[in-house]
Amino acid sequence: MTKPTDLLDSFGRKHDYLRLSITDSCNFRCLYCMPDEPFKSTPSIELMKSQEIFEISKIFVQQFNINKIRITGGEPLVRNDFETIIQQISTLGASIGITTNGVLLHKYFDLFKKCGVRNLNISIDSLDREKFKYITKRDLFQTVWDNIKESIKRGFNVKLNVVVMRGFNEDEIPEFIALSHHYPIELRFIEFMPFTGNSWEKNKVIPISEMLTLVAEHFTFEKVEDHKNDTSRKYRIDAESKGVFGLISTMSNSFCAGCNRIRITSDGKMKNCLFGADEFDLLKSFRNNESLTELIKLGIIKKHKEKGGQFSEMENVNNQKIINRSMIKIGG
Ligand code: SAM
Ligand code: SF4
Repeated sequence: MTKPTDLLDSFGRKHDYLRLSITDSCNFRCLYCMPDEPFKSTPSIELMKSQEIFEISKIFVQQFNINKIRITGGEPLVRNDFETIIQQISTLGASIGITTNGVLLHKYFDLFKKCGVRNLNISIDSLDREKFKYITKRDLFQTVWDNIKESIKRGFNVKLNVVVMRGFNEDEIPEFIALSHHYPIELRFIEFMPFTGNSWEKNKVIPISEMLTLVAEHFTFEKVEDHKNDTSRKYRIDAESKGVFGLISTMSNSFCAGCNRIRITSDGKMKNCLFGADEFDLLKSFRNNESLTELIKLGIIKKHKEKGGQFSEMENVNNQKIINRSMIKIGG
């Protein structure tokens, strides 16, 4: 086996974190994620098979020192062979996290324990059943909430992802943050981001500065130390709090300078940035029995300094001009 090398881009950023989308199907229809037009998920023949997911991931871990893999989608837990995928990936030795809408979590707690999966990021944008239904188009708040509580009880590291959209859920930020007093979790408030077909508008984004002002009206809070490569800036509302809250400012103040992420879409394209137009067809090369090494290196070298080279300041974003996929087809 050849000696592993670090995946460095032309700005000296080291990439050791792979976000792996395994499907673009989903049992939710979140309004900020799915495109507005009728949505068709990719035919299964074009998706990476479980063995392909494993072999391609293995190259990243063994040749390029990737030490962290996050499985995402679409909704990763809807894939029929999810169990096989997790079992295979867990043999690679990288830390594994799952990003999920939480609906099917109860089916997989034992598998996660067996495979050493500790980190669960669960999306929940409202604590109000009706609003939850409006955002996701599914009346499944209670199932998700029960699974969140069960995940905490079972000792998983739980982060709750909340996409904040003006006029939808910013009024719930205090209620969400209050959860961090009682539960050992991280609440993560994410600025609404533009993707193909998601009707993004600048005025729907609540910048983190505004979120902090809102929080200050309800709580005193203190800064908590962030880890290297963290996308969220973390705070604690009181010394007795079991958990923390974090703010993710992709739009108002990006963290591109510390980016260590590479993405693979469920149809096997490597994306070097969430907002990048460039895609590198790993699956095609893999199916042609070609080596992926040079293609992966090329994909990293072509990485832009910031936001896929497509925009910088939020003020100047024109979502119609950004060349990308819908979020569900990228994998968050
Ligand atoms: N289905 C899983 C879930 O919902 O957690 C995983 C895939 S989802 C695309 C990953 C994350 O992206 C979720 O936390 C979701 O809230 C977030 N997301 C989707 N569209 C977004 C947008 N337009 N702006 C910000 N975050 C978004
Ligand atoms: Fe599905 Fe997750 Fe997108 Fe919601 S955010 S539609 S749950 S992939």
